[in-house]
Amino acid sequence: MDQAQVEKELEDLRKRINKYDYQYHVLDQPTVPDAEYDRLMQQLRTLEEKYPELITEHSPTHRVGGEPLSAFEKVEHRVPMLSLANAFDAEDLRAFDRRVREGLQVENVAYVCELKIDGLAVSLRYQDGVFVQGATRGDGNIGEDITHNLKTIKSIPLTIKDNSAMEVRGEAFMPKKSFLALNEAKAKKEEEPFANPRNAAAGSLRQLDPKIAAKRNLDIFLYAVGEWESGTLTTHSDRLSYLKELGFKTNPEWRKCEDIEQVIEYIEGWNEKRANLDYEIDGIVVKVDDLAYQDQLKTTAKSPRWAIAYKFPAEEVVTKLIDVILSV
Ligand code: NAD
Repeated sequence: MDQAQVEKELEDLRKRINKYDYQYHVLDQPTVPDAEYDRLMQQLRTLEEKYPELITEHSPTHRVGGEPLSAFEKVEHRVPMLSLANAFDAEDLRAFDRRVREGLQVENVAYVCELKIDGLAVSLRYQDGVFVQGATRGDGNIGEDITHNLKTIKSIPLTIKDNSAMEVRGEAFMPKKSFLALNEAKAKKEEEPFANPRNAAAGSLRQLDPKIAAKRNLDIFLYAVGEWESGTLTTHSDRLSYLKELGFKTNPEWRKCEDIEQVIEYIEGWNEKRANLDYEIDGIVVKVDDLAYQDQLKTTAKSPRWAIAYKFPAEEVVTKLIDVILSV
């Protein structure tokens, strides 16, 4: 490819990805499967790596999520809510581990593996032990105030036994059963169904009327602490245990792994086992356990260097392939 062709290819990819981002994050109405989106993003990343002089600041590879909707009050995230870099196989995970160990100059690093819940990231702020504000991730720096809707999720504690100013982060989601029931009801009313539980959850939490969200049977798993006035714990695993102790719903499947090979072992099998869960997951998140190491590794503009999301091979593509094979 000559320079003009590369520029055109980059321009086309950015345009398409920006359009898909808008449909997915702002309208909650994706028009392509996630695997197709991930493939285009990977293609753009590879081209940008090969031609770094053609990277523009407004490239979608440099930003997180979507813009906030104007109907809601804006909330500034003092600690940005970032996206995660992706891994698609064991080699990507080993490469991630190498980068981490080289960055820290250590022989071995322990990780925490968590299920990657396919919902939407939210932030819950507590002041003097009381839930005072809940927000979406938005573009990572500015989210939307959806406190009224989050209060309808019964597993979110309205008070906790910790009086420090604390921001807890997690994934709000719609269980598979609620999603099927909701789409059945929509079909009866001849309304457009939601594309998937993630979009249904996002659409429910971005309603102006909390009565709608209340009817949607949403749930949440908490997996991180953002800003924390008096945080003294030194590992991510201790934080997860503390969140549980405070009454937050944490996902029970998380596991501490002593090295990357244990991480790879943990991941094996989840692609099949996930069908038995009552909620959708689209991968496994791997995080450096030691918080001092996390600080040392820092973040890029888009994602932390101390975590990675392993993504399962996409079901949508596999299903399509089977359809094609069966129709021949
Ligand atoms: P991401 O899905 O790769 O991962 C980051 C998110 O994972 C976090 O923000 C959080 O919400 C979530 N998460 C779930 N469980 C977690 C846990 N235990 N710990 C930490 N985080 C956890 O990145 P993204 O920026 O949220 O979204 C990008 C993805 O969205 C793409 O990879 C693509 O699959 C999809 N997408 C699809 C379209 C489309 O048109 N189909 C468009 C845009 C984005």
